[in-house]
Amino acid sequence: MSKYINSIFFLIALFSGLVANAQNEVYTSEAKQAIADTVFVNLKDFSQDFIYDMKYATDDNFLKAKVYDCAECFLRYKTVQALIAANNDFKKKGYKIKLYDCYRPLSIQKKMWEIVSNPEYVADPKKGSIHNRGGAVDISLVDKNGKEVDMGTPFDFFGIQASHNYTKLSNEVKSNRKLLKKVMIKNGFNSFDSEWWHYNLKTGLKDKVSNQKWNCE
Ligand SMILES: [Zn+2]
Repeated sequence: MSKYINSIFFLIALFSGLVANAQNEVYTSEAKQAIADTVFVNLKDFSQDFIYDMKYATDDNFLKAKVYDCAECFLRYKTVQALIAANNDFKKKGYKIKLYDCYRPLSIQKKMWEIVSNPEYVADPKKGSIHNRGGAVDISLVDKNGKEVDMGTPFDFFGIQASHNYTKLSNEVKSNRKLLKKVMIKNGFNSFDSEWWHYNLKTGLKDKVSNQKWNCE
């Protein structure tokens, strides 16, 4: 009889060991499920520290049309990581990044190109913009009071005054643009000569162009 009980105990012990192992297995494999660098993700799922002013989700833009159903900032995961690192640097200096545009479906790029067929301001959809690849952001900075700093021109100002090479600007504007550029470059982005607001993730230049639209809930 006692031999029989011992066997039962042995089986229970074995069974619970298996369950524990099975649970460990599941836990381990979940922990290993890292997000791939090139997966498109929503910035707000990774940080709440950005200011949103998504112009193409309103009609306050050069298209004079609301072309996004909702204001979301989708980017490839590696772009999100670099942007959060840049924002952390800005926060230490009393600023936060304000977003105007992030990933942009290729169909929207075509609409933009129809209105402004000038590669200094809008990328030719045949080549595709880095926005279409999930590696570009259009941004500015806000100060501690949530006020946007003076960058000299509004976003999407298609003129020489928006260029990094334009020098007839106040010292304040120059220093704001310089700060934006310095921190973005430190965090893996390239600036774009004709637009102070546009930054490309250096490792995102060759990713695939996408036309996927995000879901709005
Ligand atoms: Zn841009």
